[in-house]
Amino acid sequence: MSNIFYRTLILPLYLSFIQINLLAQTGEAMNSAIKKIVKSDEEWKCDLTKEEFYILREKGTERAFAGEYNKNKEPGNYVCAGCSSLLFSSEKKYDSGSGWPSFWEPAEETNIISKLDSSLGRIRTEALCANCGGHLGHVFNDGPDPTGLRYCINSGALHFQKEKSPDNIK
Ligand SMILES: [Zn+2]
Repeated sequence: MSNIFYRTLILPLYLSFIQINLLAQTGEAMNSAIKKIVKSDEEWKCDLTKEEFYILREKGTERAFAGEYNKNKEPGNYVCAGCSSLLFSSEKKYDSGSGWPSFWEPAEETNIISKLDSSLGRIRTEALCANCGGHLGHVFNDGPDPTGLRYCINSGALHFQKEKSPDNIK
């Protein structure tokens, strides 16, 4: 009798407890492995402009069509305004008509984290810099081929590094 009790109730409970514990530990390990730069709000305020701080650290959104890079078509790379980590390349930028710089894929998949965002009463996917945890924008499923994704990113979260043409490199 006690054996059946153990097998049907205690053992499954114990196993699910271990499973949840393991998940939590892996989550913590992943978080610390991903987020490499940790600064206080005061430190960030010194290092960023007001607009960059509002977007990256307070998850703000710039006005549509107002951002510096919305219409930028020059070849080059877009790095994080907070930590200079490579985020997007002009090769994967397209005009979505949304008013924000749009990309169908990050330059390096591992440099961006996607996270569920249920603010404003909507379920959206937030895009964050994996290196400093800065808020970049959101990811939507209405992008072009080959990914079908639209990384809708604030210009204020990015710095553009113009590609050097072969003539410029000496
Ligand atoms: Zn960053």
